[in-house]
Amino acid sequence: MGPVSPSECLFCRIAGRGIETAVLYEDERAMGFRDINPKAPVHLLVIPKEHIESLLACGEEQKGILGHLLWVANRLADAENLARDGYRVVLNVGTYGGQTVPHLHVHLLGGRSFGWPPG
Ligand code: 5GP
Ligand code: ZN
Repeated sequence: MGPVSPSECLFCRIAGRGIETAVLYEDERAMGFRDINPKAPVHLLVIPKEHIESLLACGEEQKGILGHLLWVANRLADAENLARDGYRVVLNVGTYGGQTVPHLHVHLLGGRSFGWPPG
């Protein structure tokens, strides 16, 4: 996975409102919206507005945003009524992790039970 210029990056374009997307959560650092190809009754993505390629690209400086993305995911889980039954949060990282969009994103999945281990 090579470096991607933010202007060519799908999630940078969503963050910059260059692609029309219904936004469920937004603040100065992060954004939450529905996955276009949902794998569960509720499938949301939480992204940093800043372009960060993946968890692999995160160092000490990104500790704050990483915590913030999880906090946003939990808020959205509550808003989507997932608190009672639970939910799953996933970060796909790199090739073996199954990452297809090279802009850091947290998957929030809920509304059904999930198997373990993942496929
Ligand atoms: P990954 O496979 O990189 O972990 O997850 C990328 C996710 O982005 C996939 O679940 C895919 O369905 C979703 N996705 C790809 N393109 C778009 C898009 O244009 N809009 C939205 N909302 N989701 C997208
Ligand atoms: Zn990006």
